[in-house]
Amino acid sequence: MNDVLQFEHVSKIYKNGTAGLKDVSFSVKPGEFIAVIGPSGAGKSTLLRSINRLQDVTEGRILVEGEDISRAKGSALRSIRRKIGMVFQNYNLVYRLSVLQNVLHGRLGYMSSLQGMLGRYREEDKVKAVELLQEIDMGDFLNSRAADLSGGQKQRVGIARAFMQEPQILLCDEPIASLDPASAKVIMDMIYAMTSRRHIACLVNLHQIDAAKSYATRIIGLRKGTVVFDGPPSELTDAAIEDIYGTSMEELSITAEREAI
Ligand code: ADP
Repeated sequence: MNDVLQFEHVSKIYKNGTAGLKDVSFSVKPGEFIAVIGPSGAGKSTLLRSINRLQDVTEGRILVEGEDISRAKGSALRSIRRKIGMVFQNYNLVYRLSVLQNVLHGRLGYMSSLQGMLGRYREEDKVKAVELLQEIDMGDFLNSRAADLSGGQKQRVGIARAFMQEPQILLCDEPIASLDPASAKVIMDMIYAMTSRRHIACLVNLHQIDAAKSYATRIIGLRKGTVVFDGPPSELTDAAIEDIYGTSMEELSITAEREAI
């Protein structure tokens, strides 16, 4: 099976000289569910944001279905971007708009800017948006204002919006970091179910090692911008975790307990 995503010797040096990523290479097949883990500042967000060109890389190439996104411009960039859906920690919804309108926004990449500005969505797009909202149990909230939803409900809307694009790759940047444990489980279950049903690749930045182990088919561990682990969850031993986080398991569980309080 062809790779849907390839990183070839990718480095990112920020203007102030900080290295976000250092010589990162890996490739991803359709259907893989990858958790990207590592301490704060390890480069997880830089890695995800480079894939849809929310930021440029300094060196190397990133290929999406064989096309180089790192140098694409104009309509070529837009067409590659359509293949990549993104779910954000802080949801990125337009709060004064309805749930349905927020989900329809996922279609903007397919419309002319005039159609988008006038909010002229096709009937079939509206049907699709409703179906997606039903798939994530939000069918009763179509006309609710996004501002009035709970955090977990907002994230479901964010997920439905990403799927409106019919992406080949779903990127989730700390999707459960702002949620309570029960909502976090619902959201992870949904992301997993929706990506595996469609057999698309998913990359999720997580700082919860437990969630990474229970959902991912593969884990990539970053430390200081470098990939220090790449393998199945069964190989993520305590020693591997200590290597990624540069601290003992004991210290890590104390920190996790503190965060939970
Ligand atoms: P993570 O998501 O794992 O917390 P990031 O990708 O946000 O890590 O950051 C990786 C490194 O790049 C960190 O040292 C961070 O301080 C630095 N960094 C991130 N964004 C910027 C920026 N816009 N300018 C300068 N340095 C940055």
